[in-house]
Amino acid sequence: MEIQRRTAEVQQKLRDSGHRITPQRLCILEALLAANSHPSAEEIYAQVQRVSPTTSLATVYKTLDTLRDMGEVMEMEVGDGRFHYDGVHPQFHPHAICTRCGRITDIEIPGLTSLPEQAGEASGYEIHAQRVEFYGLCVECQNQKEQAE
Ligand SMILES: [Zn+2]
Ligand SMILES: [Zn+2]
Repeated sequence: MEIQRRTAEVQQKLRDSGHRITPQRLCILEALLAANSHPSAEEIYAQVQRVSPTTSLATVYKTLDTLRDMGEVMEMEVGDGRFHYDGVHPQFHPHAICTRCGRITDIEIPGLTSLPEQAGEASGYEIHAQRVEFYGLCVECQNQKEQAE
C-alpha cells in the first residue's frame, strides 16, 4: 500500500540524515501520512494525542519543520490561517480546496509536475517554492447543496 511504503521511505530518509526515529516521531509520521487529508499541525497533534499523550505540539512542529527542510513534506497555506501538510506527495502538485468544508484534494494532471521548472525558465528566477490552488465546492458539498435546494 502506498501509505505504508511512504512511511517506511520517510523513516529511512530520517535515519539516513542522522535523525532518530522516536516512538513520538513515528506517531507523528503515521498521523501525517495516514489519511492523506492534508492535515494541519493541530490536527496531527490531536491524532497523536490519542496514541501518545505525552507528545507535545512543539514536537509536532519540530518534526514537520525537519521533514519540510528535507523536502519530504509539502507545506501549504489555504486561507484558514493554518499550515497544512502533504507528506504523501512532497513534490509539487496543485490542490483543489473546498470553500464550504475545507477539504483539500490533490489534483493529478500529467505533465504539471514540471510547472515550477518551466516557471523558472520563463522568468529567469531560481524557484524555491510554488503553490497552485483552485477553490470551489467539493463533490460532497455539491451533492449536499443540491439536496438542500
Ligand atoms: Zn466540501
Ligand atoms: Zn497534496
